[in-house]
Amino acid sequence: MKKVQAQQEIERLSKEIEDYNYRYYVLSQPVVADKEYDILLKKLVQLEQKFPALKQPNSPAQRIGAKVEAGAKTVKHKAKMFSLDNTYSFDELVEWQQRVEKGLGNKEKVEYVVELKIDGVSAALTYEHGALILGATRGDGVVGEDITHNIKTIRSIPLQLKENTFWPIGKLLEIRGEVYVNRKDFDKLNQERSAAGQEVFANPRNATGGSVKLLDSRITAKRHLQYFAHSFGFLKGGEPFETHWNFLEAARACGLCVNSCSRLCQNFEEVLTYCQEYQDKRESIPYEVDGVVVKVNSLAQQQRLGATLKSPRWAVAYKFPAYQATTEVEDIIVQVGRTGVLTPVAQLKPVECAGVTIARATLHNFDEIKRLGVAKGDRVLIERAGDVIPKIVKVVSAFTGKKRAFAVPGKCPGCGGKIVQDKEGQVACRCVNPSCFGQLERSLVHFAARGAMDIEGFGEAVVAQLLDKGYAKDLADIYFLTEEHLLNLELFKEKKAKNLLLAIEKSKQQPLSRFLFGLGIPNVGEKAAYTLAQRFGEIDNISCLKAEELEAIHEIGTIMSDAIVEFFSSTSTMELIEKFKKVGVNMREPVEKKGRKFLGKKFVFTGEMSGLTRRQAGDLVRQSGGEVVSSVSRKTDFLVAGESPGSKYDKALQLGLVILTPKKFEEMVHEK
Ligand code: NAD
Repeated sequence: MKKVQAQQEIERLSKEIEDYNYRYYVLSQPVVADKEYDILLKKLVQLEQKFPALKQPNSPAQRIGAKVEAGAKTVKHKAKMFSLDNTYSFDELVEWQQRVEKGLGNKEKVEYVVELKIDGVSAALTYEHGALILGATRGDGVVGEDITHNIKTIRSIPLQLKENTFWPIGKLLEIRGEVYVNRKDFDKLNQERSAAGQEVFANPRNATGGSVKLLDSRITAKRHLQYFAHSFGFLKGGEPFETHWNFLEAARACGLCVNSCSRLCQNFEEVLTYCQEYQDKRESIPYEVDGVVVKVNSLAQQQRLGATLKSPRWAVAYKFPAYQATTEVEDIIVQVGRTGVLTPVAQLKPVECAGVTIARATLHNFDEIKRLGVAKGDRVLIERAGDVIPKIVKVVSAFTGKKRAFAVPGKCPGCGGKIVQDKEGQVACRCVNPSCFGQLERSLVHFAARGAMDIEGFGEAVVAQLLDKGYAKDLADIYFLTEEHLLNLELFKEKKAKNLLLAIEKSKQQPLSRFLFGLGIPNVGEKAAYTLAQRFGEIDNISCLKAEELEAIHEIGTIMSDAIVEFFSSTSTMELIEKFKKVGVNMREPVEKKGRKFLGKKFVFTGEMSGLTRRQAGDLVRQSGGEVVSSVSRKTDFLVAGESPGSKYDKALQLGLVILTPKKFEEMVHEK
């Protein structure tokens, strides 16, 4: 890139980032996801590094947060309030450690403190002789906003520090920490805002940002804000702290809330273990955590390491994969599910989110479309947490052309049949045609899918043609297909038809658990199907169970037991099962004699397997008493790494775990 182009690009990026900063920090209503913002900022940093002469002194890449809005009461911080540098992988984190240790001359022992990175808003609290006299936002790091009136509404912030024997309260003490809101309170707040026709907050951090700056502290008081003290700010006339850990203990003794998950680490391996542990546990924490903050423990070492314009060199954030992304709605379609429920689905311009490419998001029901005010062409914020189906959080910018409002279909998109509102008080619409094509199509695809009967080559394209030609009217018709039928389908030649028939024939031997799952009983997933099959052995023992008998099983609740009883009480279900029996589909579960070879051992799989599929390998582990887990931690016993393994491989290497090739794994399984 030439210098002139670079200058234009720097100006464009700076302007765009400034605008996003204003919407995020001042208005608390971002219009892009953090991930997209971070990419822009990184681009700007790279350009400034390549063309240092073009670097502007007030570039957003060199600045913290945003300036306090004109008119607000301001506070000059006694010591600068910094941001943090981010790392996104263990490799980057280890590089930071190397920089720290090199900066200290590579000879000293370095202890680290690890803490959860609370996704809230930074606030400094000043105590004079133990009494709270000031609460301020970070602002641009030098000047913040006076929010004392709102800070005083937060119950976890003491107005008077507690006298204690651990640390005698000094004359002037400034504490830094995070104001945040629990997920539960955040959801409630957004529900209330949505019901009142107000714009929802994109995430708990924005909700907190919006709340701490409110003029009316009676409203702030109702938002259930909380506070964790996490950093030392300033001290005058008191006993100085030698370490950060010391400071945290003193803060706790003074009655401040310090996060109990913080840990003192003697070496960096412990730091990495902590990061992995909390990345895995992230979902179970009642407040939003977007990573881990790693800090050098000794304050003397911290001082020697110093800071850049924006961040201290002695601390860094390890960021967990982002849950949110922004993208465009290309269309809104309606799908009919296996149980006839109509679900609107947003088709999205594909976007990466938490390591997966997302091209669709569920809209749950037609009311949700109205609530979100979403239409084709809008830019939306999407969220994907854990294994949950991606959802649209909000519209961040509406389509500027002629907007077409979504119309609820009058007929079932699968069969053109009548649709009815679901049970009273529920918002779902359902197709009530028992021979609905759309439902049958989803059911057939599900029946033949991997976790169910696993019929290779029996995907959506084949199913659609079979239905079109009238070769399948129920699930069992799969077993009545002939070569002649298949040769009438597009792209089917003799060999392909023979292979599919062989796969269909082979599927008759699948264990009962797979068959049960394949039947698509509402609410019965793979695990519940397996539990039922293992416990009762035969389909006839299951079809006659009463709800109480089912509920006595630990893994089965009322919703599932009702669904199972209702399913088997239908005559058409029983007729279908008879039809399956007649063609020789297996209705029994081989009772697993669990081996003990891998008893208590945890396995993680990564990369492409050779020989066995992942599912087969997982079955083998479970049959031998072991467990398959999804992420690597110190508690993992074996990592089985196939071709092109992902980041799990690097983590396993760093943690010194046993790494097996797929071949070695198979040998181990078969070893006597
Ligand atoms: P940051 O939030 O990523 O990290 C610094 C902050 O972490 C500190 O100020 C502190 O308040 C907080 N923190 C939480 N727990 C802590 C702990 N235990 N110890 C120390 N500090 C802790 O940095 P930032 O500068 O506040 O904001 C940058 C972030 O904001 C980026 O991730 C960026 O994506 C996002 N952002 C997004 C937009 C947008 O439009 N989407 C705009 C601006 C910024």
